[in-house]
Amino acid sequence: MVTIRELIELSLAEIEAQRRIDKDRKVSLYYDKYPELRAIDTDLVELRKSKIMASLDGREEYADKIGSRESALRSKREKFLHDNGIPSDFDSEDYICDKCSDTGYTASKEGTVRVCSCKNAQLEECYDRSGMRDYSSVRLDNYRADYLGDAEQRKALMSGLLSACLGRGDKEDKDLWIYQGAPQTGKTFLAVCVAKGIIKLGKSAYYCKCEDIEEMDEDLIADLKRYDVLVIDDFASDISSRRRIAYVLNTVFEVRNAAGLKTVIVTYENKNDLISNCDVRLAGKLKNAGYIS
Ligand SMILES: [Zn+2]
Repeated sequence: MVTIRELIELSLAEIEAQRRIDKDRKVSLYYDKYPELRAIDTDLVELRKSKIMASLDGREEYADKIGSRESALRSKREKFLHDNGIPSDFDSEDYICDKCSDTGYTASKEGTVRVCSCKNAQLEECYDRSGMRDYSSVRLDNYRADYLGDAEQRKALMSGLLSACLGRGDKEDKDLWIYQGAPQTGKTFLAVCVAKGIIKLGKSAYYCKCEDIEEMDEDLIADLKRYDVLVIDDFASDISSRRRIAYVLNTVFEVRNAAGLKTVIVTYENKNDLISNCDVRLAGKLKNAGYIS
């Protein structure tokens, strides 16, 4: 299981190295232009070294003497920077991304944390590895509420699904959700948008089709129990009743429910049909599920 946090963490080492390279380049530009500044800084490094050596040898008086030479040189440096209009932080590292100060996350005024746009590559990788490799063009930003007509209803659906996945508002109490809609009403698009939106908020999410569970390896099934949000698309009573799928779903739902993790199943069947035609163990769980349509 890969999370956006891990991918961002991995990218940080690269960014630190880049920052150091940028800094060295910037500093050497100033040194080339102002050789006196380079000389002052070289002397400062030498003085600091000597001071430490003197202290280690117990020659306190000598160390103090070096200390005063060091502060004199510091004042000289400050004046030099000022006289030549050199910014005092010319030798400090700059952030590569000003928006997030290289943390990878930004927070809105309301306090919602989001993955920063400088981490788009990591986001794409995370989407790919979270079951959405085939949906690279689907994203929350180009979600159009008026797609297929009824804009208000789709807007409400989207926010209802997001609230359900985040356990917000009146959707706090349920962990298992059924999102029902007629065929060809853009359910998959919506479900993928929601899963991507959750990842963008720094959480982990996985998207799969119900019938894919049949062929899933044990590692992935173990991961299904751990994602913050799991979206199971094309859920149907006949598919979910297949022996292996019913077994896997039953244990996955049980573990996720115990951990308070949110699961959304997407289906064209209405709740009553689902419950009466499903595997009996699943039916018991679906009976208590929240319903969005
Ligand atoms: Zn950023």
